[in-house]
This record gives sequence, C-alpha cells and structure tokens, in this order.
Amino acid sequence: MQKTTHKPIYVTTPSLAPLDEYTKILKGIWETGIVTHNGPLLQRLEAELKEYLRLRNIVVVTNGTVAIQLAIKAFKLQGEIITTPFSWIATCSSIQWEGCQPVFVDVDPNTLNIDPAKIEAAITHRTTAILPVHVFSNPCDIEAIETIAKKHNLKVIYDAAHAVCVDYKGRSLLEYGDIIATSFHATKIFNTGEGGACIATDDEVHKLLQRLRFFGHDDDKNIIGDGCNGKMTEIHAALGLANLPHLDGVQAKRKAIFEAYAQHLQDLDFIRFQQFDPNAYNYSYMPIILDSEERLLKVMNKLKENNIYGRRYFYPSLNLVKAVAAYSPMPISEDIAKRIMCLPSFNELDLDMIPEICRLVKECV
Ligand SMILES: *Cc1c(COP(=O)(O)O)cnc(C)c1O
Repeated sequence: MQKTTHKPIYVTTPSLAPLDEYTKILKGIWETGIVTHNGPLLQRLEAELKEYLRLRNIVVVTNGTVAIQLAIKAFKLQGEIITTPFSWIATCSSIQWEGCQPVFVDVDPNTLNIDPAKIEAAITHRTTAILPVHVFSNPCDIEAIETIAKKHNLKVIYDAAHAVCVDYKGRSLLEYGDIIATSFHATKIFNTGEGGACIATDDEVHKLLQRLRFFGHDDDKNIIGDGCNGKMTEIHAALGLANLPHLDGVQAKRKAIFEAYAQHLQDLDFIRFQQFDPNAYNYSYMPIILDSEERLLKVMNKLKENNIYGRRYFYPSLNLVKAVAAYSPMPISEDIAKRIMCLPSFNELDLDMIPEICRLVKECV
C-alpha cells in the first residue's frame, strides 16, 4: 500500500477567520464588560446577517436545535408533526422534546427531500404542522408544501440548517415558510462555533420569538409571557462577525470543491449525485450515493486506509431510531441512508487532494 504523507483529512473542519480578526472584535467585550444579554455584538451580527442574506427578520439563538424548539413553541404546537426520516436526529428529537409526535413521510429518491405527494396521506385530525428539511441545502418543493399546509390549516416550519446562502426565486430560501430554523454550528457553511437562528415571515411571530429567547421579556424588560434562555453570547456573535466577511470566499471554495469532485466522479457507474438546481444550492456538502451499502463500506475503508475520513450522512434513517419514534417503514429513506456518504469538503481542503481522493474511490470498482 502507498504510504500516506498528509495529515488526516476529515469530512469537514470549521471555516475560521484569521485569529487576529477575531481577537480584535473580542477586545470590545473586555472593554464594555458585556458578555451576553442581547449585547451590541449580537445586535450587530443580526443586522449584518439581515443585510448579507437579504432578510427582513432574524432572531439569532444558541444553536439550531433550540431554533427548531422555539419555532414549535412559538405556535404552541401539539399533536402530530409531519417530518422527514432523512435528516439529522435534531429534526426529530426537537419535535419529541416539545411534546409532539413526529410522523414520517418518505423522501424523493432524487432530491432527497420529503416527497410532497405522500404528505396528505399522513395527515390526521391531530396533525398541526409540517417540518421539512432542505437536505444539503436543496430547496424542498415549497409551493406543493404550502398548498397542502393551507388546505389543512397547518404551520410550516423549515429545518434550514444546511440552507444559509441559498436563493430561491429571487429571495433567500430562509424567507419561505412560517418559521425557518437554521444552524450556525461549527460544521455549517457559516458558523459561530455553536449557534442558530429563527426567521419568521410574520412580524408578530418575530417579536414573539425574541421574547421566547429571552425569558419572555419585552423590550422594556417586562415579563409578558413564558420563555426560555436561547440568547447567543457576545463571544459567539464575535466569531460570527469575524467569519461573515469571508463567507463569499467560503462559498466559492465549496463550489470549486464540488465541481472538482463531480468532474472526476461523473463517469463512475456506481455513483450518483443528489438532483438539484445549480442556482439554488450552496455546495456545502459533497454527498455521493453508492450503488450498495457494501460499496459504501468499501469506499469508506479505502479512504480510511489513506488517512481520509468520509462520513455516513444521514445514517440511519430516523424511522429506525427507536428512541425518538415508533417504527414505520420508509423504504426510500432507509435504502438511501444505507448507501449515501459525504466526502471531505471544507475551506482549508487543498484542491490538489481531490484527484487523489477520487482515484481511491475509483479503485472501489
Ligand atoms: C446541524 C443540524 C441541526 C442542528 O443544528 P445544531 O446547531 O447543531 O443544533 C438540525 N438539523 C439538521 C438537518 C442539521 O444538519
């Protein structure tokens, strides 16, 4: 076997601004002594994100999971919430954590998003909302979902954890739905270490989310409702402010990585890609769908022998996770989850490594 000389290459590493740019912003915290509590840096981060993403509203919170939970709380949802089995566990566990029951609807095998044609059959008198995921930033069938939601008087909460920096029909994808929850976790395209946000399309809901994040306080610190603590600290907001000016570059790099992989892998008959619109995708992940789980394990091992680590994502299909929901068969999601993985893609990845990674994948014929 060929000897590897490079450092381990993981599926991702966080995109971080140069340290001095971060510490410069941190200095302000030491000067003012304001570390949290909707401080000046959090307010600045919200303002800059609104401008960069062209959003009318944003409520930045501690993480993406709390963002989903606050969205469910904001509408006081109960009963059943329809969601996708092909996602990260947080989508489903947030529903359960809020005392609701996740009801799965299978995905489309090409887009990997919830299949709207199967949603109506899952609606019962207990259904209160639909909570789809824009998988790997690929927009769901928004119009179809909205039509079903209107007809049955359901709320639509999007888990847009992957979908920062995606435009859909001339607007940010984060403006479609009743509340859109996103994540700024270290692994996401824009990160604050830990972080997330709720975007509400209705101004009253926006104000409610601000209160829910801050113990139920209004602007004058009167407690006018229930709430919890979902405030982002100034330390995290500072990291976001340092990272934001580099986000154009981060996006360009991810796209270049994706295109390099696609070029090298396109002729392999045992690999296919998620189907997406190139104008509405942020290229933050490099998912490949293999022809069998056996092949997937072969690729994972081949890479591992060479100090390169892909990741099974998402695996397993959430309908198989007994801790969050009773089993119901989801044949497409179960099948895809077994044979999909993400290849390394991150800002510091050397583009010259991609032909080498692809060469290893090709050896798995
Ligand atoms: C990352 C992620 C979340 C959770 O976000 P955190 O900020 O890590 O809490 C939710 N849903 C999906 C699909 C994710 O990938």
